[in-house]
Amino acid sequence: MATLETNTVRQASTISLLEEMERKYKEIPVESIVKQDILRMGIHFLPESFLVSEEYKSKDYFIFSFDHTPLSELGDGADTKAPEEIRLQGGHFNLLPTVISTRNNPASPYKMKLHDGVPTLVLDETIIGKVAYPPKPSWYNHKTQSGKLPGEIAPVIEWGYLIYLTVFRNCQYFGKEEECAYCDINHNYRQQRGAGRPYTGVKDVDDILEVMSWIDKEDKIAEVYTITGGSVLTNLKKKNEVDFYLQYPEAIEKKFPGRWMGKLVAQAFEKEDCQKFVDVGVKIYHPNYEVWDKELFKKICPGKEAWIGYDNWIRRVVDSAEVFGPEHVIPNFVGGVELSAPYGFKTVAEAIQSTGEGLDFFMSKGIVPRFTAWCPEPYTTLGTQAGPPLEYFCELLTTWKRTFEKYNLPTPPGYGEPGAGKAVFSVSAFMDVIGYKGRN
Ligand code: SF4
Repeated sequence: MATLETNTVRQASTISLLEEMERKYKEIPVESIVKQDILRMGIHFLPESFLVSEEYKSKDYFIFSFDHTPLSELGDGADTKAPEEIRLQGGHFNLLPTVISTRNNPASPYKMKLHDGVPTLVLDETIIGKVAYPPKPSWYNHKTQSGKLPGEIAPVIEWGYLIYLTVFRNCQYFGKEEECAYCDINHNYRQQRGAGRPYTGVKDVDDILEVMSWIDKEDKIAEVYTITGGSVLTNLKKKNEVDFYLQYPEAIEKKFPGRWMGKLVAQAFEKEDCQKFVDVGVKIYHPNYEVWDKELFKKICPGKEAWIGYDNWIRRVVDSAEVFGPEHVIPNFVGGVELSAPYGFKTVAEAIQSTGEGLDFFMSKGIVPRFTAWCPEPYTTLGTQAGPPLEYFCELLTTWKRTFEKYNLPTPPGYGEPGAGKAVFSVSAFMDVIGYKGRN
């Protein structure tokens, strides 16, 4: 592996870079390479790209902003009309359909245009593919008795597969001394409210059940729901963190037993607390460790370090496998944040060495970490940065796949079908690489 040095200037995306990566990384599909590059750079939607005949689902800002630019600076309709995801197909690399999360970036070289009435993604005048936008579910047109919009209460992502329930849109880790350095949950809440949007801070169980009842009746695509939100350090609505988050799956499973697969993204809890979630019917647990290197965890997740601590966090992840079963514990890390300035590694090789160690540690125990591609959002402690070069993500996907295959692990449940052309997980390409046989 090259010891490519990262620097402060974002590596440009060009066709020749993509082709070079395609030649060099033959164990991963080209779809995964292009997907990671688009996630890395974001997309510039030209106003014409919104002039499509079919109604589609726009970005619901389901937890973070996942944009490279503040909402107030997104012009030309991108702030309200950008689709949640795109499905890209054909083009220069003859891509299989590839679902990619939208990260608005007016400075991106990836331009969304309209060619013969069809949204088309272009890089340096070369067509990367024809694009579809996600369909808007029928139940998005209802309103709850309390006057809330379904897309605000229970949005779907991953092409409609996952109902994403951010039940608490803030985090009690607050300010630079506590917030995770890559996270804009609190800032995003403020910018959404500042833009005059309905954006409920703490969701009402009844609102969620009302929307879920429409999904139950009208929807055939959603198979999974996620309960998540910011950390609760003291209490929220007179409940401690565990009881606060527990009330949602408890109510959902009571009313719709086993209708969808329930997932929880929360802090790393002790086994007794994990058991409470299993008891109400939650199947998958995501106690996200964010970054493997211990010293970087301290710097990048200062609140988690202060309240729980790295060693405790990792121990709890491992312990939770005794409760959920190892294949049902899927901790996330933020792919690329270990290369962030000022504390991160200086080379791709060092970053992969460290992150790969973490993958081996967990996968040897049957726990399969997944990752989201770091988006350097402006309102975070880390701020706008160059971000990792594309080579980092190619190395990461290759390492992830090799380790996953080394331990002969099952496809992580709750993500739909794996493989290029089928995967719907949109914020990284880890599902796209599963089962790929390689190319000459
Ligand atoms: S714990 Fe960290 S990543 Fe999670 S919401 Fe709070 S600040 Fe963000």
